[in-house]
Amino acid sequence: MPFTLPALPYAFDALEPYIDTETMKIHHDKHHQAYVDNLNKAIAGTPNENKTLAELVAVAGTISPAVRNNGGGHWNHSFFWETLAPASGAAPSGAVVDAITKDFGSLDAFKEKFSNAAMTRFGSGWAWLIVKDGKLEVSSTPNQDNPLMDVAEVKGTPLLGVDVWEHAYYLKYQNKRADYLAAFWNLVNWAKVNERFAAK
Ligand code: MN
Repeated sequence: MPFTLPALPYAFDALEPYIDTETMKIHHDKHHQAYVDNLNKAIAGTPNENKTLAELVAVAGTISPAVRNNGGGHWNHSFFWETLAPASGAAPSGAVVDAITKDFGSLDAFKEKFSNAAMTRFGSGWAWLIVKDGKLEVSSTPNQDNPLMDVAEVKGTPLLGVDVWEHAYYLKYQNKRADYLAAFWNLVNWAKVNERFAAK
């Protein structure tokens, strides 16, 4: 089978108390694993078997819903685990923070815009910070779509993303998506976000 579940880059309990151990175990071992398994099943014996994940995501609008949803799920979760890191308490810094300040006015103004996109995504989906035509923008996508997909309303290169499916927060936060999003900022791996920005 071509696609495999990447290991979490930290322990299941490393994001406590902001994201609880049980949620991380189920989210990674069950939900992400299911996206990988169902993606492999959906491409088995088809020409998509020989494509990379990036190639599948880029043509999401022309492939089956099973490949789009599970391929997107695999891409998004692999990206999400690396977006997070154990809380360090350090203030966000680096070139991406300078660019955020330039394009949104301030880091707080960006956080507000990003959180608003995450709060107003009805049902399941994701909110994103992307680079589009050399500028930073906030966007959101439904289900397991992402800004690299041909079907995305706003296309760009993702630097940061948050999963707002209920499975990402319900055990600890129940209906309080806003509390989950407030906690999320303690866990952003700004070194990784800077690395993505530099590669763009
Ligand atoms: Mn998820």
